[in-house]
Amino acid sequence: ATAARQSLKIGLIPADGIGKEVIPAARRVLEAIGSDIPKPEFVPLLAGWEVFVRDGTALPEETVEALRECDGALFGAVSSPSRRVTGYSSPIVALRKELDLYANVRPVISVSANPDDKPAVDLVVVRENTECLYVKQEQLVHSENGREARAIRLITERASRRIGKMAFEIALSRPRKQVTIVHKSNVLTITDGLFRETIRQIPSESNGRYDSVKLEEQIVDSAVYRLFREPQIYDVMVAPNLYGDILSDAAAALVGSLGLVPSVNAGDKFVMGEPVHGSAPDIEGKGIANPIAAIRSAALMLRHLGYAAPAHRIDRAVDQVIREGQVLTPDLGGKSSTDDVLNAVLKKL
Ligand code: ATP
Ligand code: MG
Repeated sequence: ATAARQSLKIGLIPADGIGKEVIPAARRVLEAIGSDIPKPEFVPLLAGWEVFVRDGTALPEETVEALRECDGALFGAVSSPSRRVTGYSSPIVALRKELDLYANVRPVISVSANPDDKPAVDLVVVRENTECLYVKQEQLVHSENGREARAIRLITERASRRIGKMAFEIALSRPRKQVTIVHKSNVLTITDGLFRETIRQIPSESNGRYDSVKLEEQIVDSAVYRLFREPQIYDVMVAPNLYGDILSDAAAALVGSLGLVPSVNAGDKFVMGEPVHGSAPDIEGKGIANPIAAIRSAALMLRHLGYAAPAHRIDRAVDQVIREGQVLTPDLGGKSSTDDVLNAVLKKL
């Protein structure tokens, strides 16, 4: 991604629940950035459960078409029905497919009381988002031993290479410059073997671009163990879809509230920021949702679009608000509202 743009068109899809409360906050922050980015043009768009109930589709065609004209987007959250509903499927999953957003990138950082301290946790989980067990090719067969369930786990060289490159690129932009491949190739020698081998090849095919990046690897079970015991050893972790899914939630748990953790769904041509939390029906409409995950998602989106400096400014402002601890929403033990936190961040900016 390069930053040489005349304009910046951002799709806004608050969707359901607290998405409607935190996405407007993220928008306000983007508006406050000033001349470090082209003046953003926001395109409000529909998706999610409420639209499905009203119009029979969770992802209207107009939304997808409009996003194709945008540079990036911010997605709020979708309510998932508690039972299976005919015709309903997740708009996020569909958008990842439609826009070829093959990577899910989730930075997890802890903010320490003293700004001079190194954060105890400062890592990024880079999860492959299109294959592995999530190709959903499952089958129930009846054998002589009774019912037998099978699933296909797809790993391709192409998808492994592009997710690996994404991990190396992210590592290049970070001070530690370390990539850890997470796999289980001691058991799954063919599938995880291909994932691991493909990524290990990348530096030698990069004309020296990744010479400064330190490449490590870790078997997934011990990676999780060490993630909890000594999270500071990790910088960028790259994993196939299923391990990545689990790792990214585990890593998020290290820093407390879901209301803090951002993510982006990224491809080569488009990036969509999305807070990690869901629609939080239990606090919807109360004005107390923590907007920080959404604000950090906006910063992360900017970073992927090539605007590292303003992204950094937003992150710094958010860190200061958390560190000072005066203006916090109830999930972090405070008494402040979504708007209070937004205003505190805007003031720091
Ligand atoms: P969904 O089905 O949409 O994922 P959920 O019931 O799983 O809904 P989550 O959004 O995943 O809800 O949230 C889990 C818990 O974390 C809830 O108690 C919710 O209130 C809390 N939570 C999530 N996001 C935030 C936030 N931004 N601010 C405050 N609390 C939050
Ligand atoms: Mg949830």
